[in-house]
Amino acid sequence: MSELSAGAKANDLEAYWMPFTANRQFKANPRMVVGADGMYFKLSDGRDLLDGIAGLWCCNAGHNRPRIVEAIQKQAAELDYAPAFQMGHPKQFELASRLARMMPGDLNKVFFTNSGSESVETALKMAIAYHRARGEGQRVRLIGREKGYHGVNFGGMSVGGMPANRKMFGSLMTGVDHMRHTHGIEGNRFSHGQPPNGAEMADDLERLCELHDPSTIAAVIVEPLAGSAGVILPPKGYLERLRAICDKHGILLIFDEVITAYGRLGSPFAVNHFGVEPDIVTTAKALANGVIPMGAVFVQDKIYDAFMTGPENMVEFFHGYTFSGNPMACAAALGTLDTYEEEGLLTRGSELSPYWEDAVHSLKDLPNVIDLRNMGLIAGIELEPRAGKPTARAFEAFLKAYEAGLLIRTTGDTIALSPPLIIEKSHIDFAFGTLRDILKSLD
Ligand code: PMP
Repeated sequence: MSELSAGAKANDLEAYWMPFTANRQFKANPRMVVGADGMYFKLSDGRDLLDGIAGLWCCNAGHNRPRIVEAIQKQAAELDYAPAFQMGHPKQFELASRLARMMPGDLNKVFFTNSGSESVETALKMAIAYHRARGEGQRVRLIGREKGYHGVNFGGMSVGGMPANRKMFGSLMTGVDHMRHTHGIEGNRFSHGQPPNGAEMADDLERLCELHDPSTIAAVIVEPLAGSAGVILPPKGYLERLRAICDKHGILLIFDEVITAYGRLGSPFAVNHFGVEPDIVTTAKALANGVIPMGAVFVQDKIYDAFMTGPENMVEFFHGYTFSGNPMACAAALGTLDTYEEEGLLTRGSELSPYWEDAVHSLKDLPNVIDLRNMGLIAGIELEPRAGKPTARAFEAFLKAYEAGLLIRTTGDTIALSPPLIIEKSHIDFAFGTLRDILKSLD
């Protein structure tokens, strides 16, 4: 047994299998975060790193915010856990009511999860079960988009369209089809805000309706603004057209707002921002400021009501998680909403957006920059793909930015920025000044 003793086991870095990370490369040259405050991470080598991506698009109020810290500490001492099924606790009802009041339209019912991926699975299951509850059990097909990102579980991966995230995992779910994405449309490069061309891309849905028979389609899921695929904005009129086609055929429209919810676009939700109301909205990430994992799915009253008034075997939604509406997560989310409200963060993006937009588009004439995209406090900087070298220019920029004290995110050839909403103009100047120097230095 002695070779199984702790001493003979792997060193500190080897045991942990890191997600979405080239483990061997990382472990040869690790980047370690040991603290955080406001707009900054503190690194193990003592340097500060300006957070240009809100952690992973989630710390919208910045780091280690007192309201949230206090809320969690208080909750931990009061009620650590409550059974999620057949039992309730006051904070989950309070949080759901508050969220429902924030969300426009009929999206008044809220179901809690622990992540974006779980919110997506929940939404897809709700859609199929909703139709069944109303006597339309044949509506089981799901439609997503190429390049779409809806998390990593089997439903989300199947409706998603990022080849790298799918190709290792077999045949995925059946009964799923994809529309094209709205990326790379002629005449849209360097648009400020929503691009003008491409509303007709929504007609891909009509094509799929014709192919499959619309009465077999349960739902369509899209990110109103796609983050992980490289910050892809919806063309003007596109979301409206999707809504109209869904209405025509009785198909539910799901907005995956895991990135856009809670102020990212300068409005509380993309639903407000684009003025298009889907039937279901998935959220997570910034709901509890990234402090404790939590997600929330918003549904229109009609969906909840279908479960309450359906045939006897449908009165319950046979779905949920041990940690749905967990007291600690609810406390963190309530502290987060307090912070957002007290500091006006859910609309701060719209105030700062002109300054942000100018900063983004100041990179226009730099070498290899082939497109710039912006909205609220989010940006995509797309670089010319590089043939013959293993590392994309964007990832080289990530490494250089890290050395220069700035955290960015990259996906393929695109650099994404999505900072905490407490960002000041001086931080914006630093971030884009740093990026300017880096982009000039890339071959
Ligand atoms: N949907 C979208 C639109 C996302 O951007 C993400 C995460 N980037 C997810 C779902 C998955 O969220 P999580 O990583 O919390 O499971």
